[in-house]
Formats: sequence, structure tokens, C-alpha cells
Amino acid sequence: MNDTLSQNSVFDNFSLAGQVAVVTGASKGIGKGIALAFSQAGASVVCASRTEADVVAAAKHISEVTGNPTLGIACDVSSSEQRTMLLQRTIKEMGRIDILVNNAGGAGPNNPVKTSAEEFSKTLDWNVTPAFDLSKQAYELMLESGTGSIINISSRAAQLRQKNFSAYGSAKAALSHLTRLLAQDFAPNVRVNAIEPGAILTDALEGFLTPEMKSGMIKTTPLGRLGEVEDVANSALFLASPASAWITGKIIELDGGVEAPLW
Ligand code: NAP
Repeated sequence: MNDTLSQNSVFDNFSLAGQVAVVTGASKGIGKGIALAFSQAGASVVCASRTEADVVAAAKHISEVTGNPTLGIACDVSSSEQRTMLLQRTIKEMGRIDILVNNAGGAGPNNPVKTSAEEFSKTLDWNVTPAFDLSKQAYELMLESGTGSIINISSRAAQLRQKNFSAYGSAKAALSHLTRLLAQDFAPNVRVNAIEPGAILTDALEGFLTPEMKSGMIKTTPLGRLGEVEDVANSALFLASPASAWITGKIIELDGGVEAPLW
């Protein structure tokens, strides 16, 4: 074993002390959970989402809980100008960027016959292009401080053969493969990994989940429950921290053991 490593507590490898993280879609749900976990691990965190009052409130709540610097920035990641503004303000106010989480994204189920080519194309674009552009811009800024970690929040829909997920599933499959490809481009200084969550109890999921769908999904999940925001936050912390220093271009399937379609 490496002598220096053996002298440290294993928990030091999960610390984000001194690091600056940007999390998109961080006013609620999975993004807010990740931002809170990173702040608890010692990072200064920039939370970004469209509704200014919500994202400022989320950042204030997080800094009250942890005591670490947290900033809420109103940013629509589908706007190229606002993406650049987000990273520039991060550098101006936090001085550096070490971690980027591309979490904003999503789409509900779609019946292919009732989905126009424009709607399909919009879902693909929204789930992939902001992550590509923010990653590219963040990569160059991360190099200025040395190294970095980029984490994309994809979905198990990227792999599962489910009905009514042609748009969302294709978009998240593109995001997962973008992860593998950018990991090659950005190595060795910046790592790029993804998480493919299964069903996580957030407002977005509750929005279209009926009680029958929910109990059906629990039955199909070997670990016997749906996911919590904290499940995703724990994996994101691992991928952001030195604990995963030798991992890049990989996808964590975070799903309670699901291998078959959830419905
Ligand atoms: P959520 O609870 O609805 O939260 C979405 C967050 O994104 C909010 O903070 C929202 O705030 C922000 N947002 C929406 N549009 C945005 C935009 N254009 N620019 C910047 N921020 C934006 O969603 P969630 O369930 O946590 O999902 C987060 C991610 O996890 C998505 O990529 C989703 O596909 C993925 N995921 C979720 C599940 C699940 O079961 N929940 C499973 C697998 C993957 P504003 O509306 O104010 O912008």
C-alpha cells in the first residue's frame, strides 16, 4: 500500500475541502441533494437553476446547514449565454472550479406515435447540449487549477428496454456515451463519469407517478424501495472526491438492483 495513503484516514479521501463545485438544477430534487452533500463534505458550492428565488433560497439553506460558502445563481442551462455567465460568475466569486455536476435535464414518457420530430429533437438537445457545452467550458477552467471532476446525471432509462421512453431514453443514452467519450478527451487531468439513477422520489417523478405505477416499480426493484435523493448524492460525492481518483469514463447504475423494465 502507498505509505502516504496509509497514514490518512479513509474518510479524508471523501473530503471536498478547498474545492469549488457547480451543480445545475440545484434548487430542488437530486441537484439540491448533491449540492448539500458536497457542502457537507467541505466544498464551496454554486447552485444553478432558472427560478432565482428558489435557487437563492436553496443556497441559503445549504450554507445555514453546513456553514460553507454557497451561492445561488439564476441560470437557464439551455441558453448558451447563461451557461458562460454561470461559469464566469463562479470564477469571479469563488475563484476557481473543480467539480461540475450536469444535473438539469429530464423529460416525461412519450408515445412515439404522438411525438413530433421537433419534440423528439428538443428532448435530445436539452438533455445533451448544455452538458456538452458546460463540460467543455469547465474543462478549460479546471485546467487552470490543475484537475477536476465532471459528473453527468443520466438515467437507467438510457439502457432499459421500456415502452414510452424513446425520447428520454435516447437522450440519456447519448449523455451516458458523451461521458465515456469526453473522459478520453479530458484525461488525465479532468475525470468525467455519470450516474444512471433508477426511480428517485422527487417532484419530477411524483408528477406522473400513479399509486399503481409506484407499487409496481417497488415490486420490480430487488432492494424493495424506490431511490432517495441521498442515494444519488452519496454516489456523486464518491465520483467528485479523491476516493474515485482512478475512475473515469464510467457509469454508476444506481437502481436498487433493477434489470427489467420498471413498467
Ligand atoms: P426536479 O426535482 O424536477 O428538479 C429539477 C431542477 O432543475 C430544479 O432545480 C429546476 O429548477 C431545475 N431546472 C429545470 N430546468 C432548468 C433549466 N433549463 N436550467 C437550469 N435549471 C433547470 O428533477 P429531478 O427529479 O431532481 O431530476 C434531476 C435530474 O435527474 C434530471 O436530469 C433527470 O432526468 C435525472 N433523473 C431523475 C430521476 C428521478 O426518478 N427523479 C431518475 C433518473 C434520472 P427551475 O425549474 O427553477 O429551473
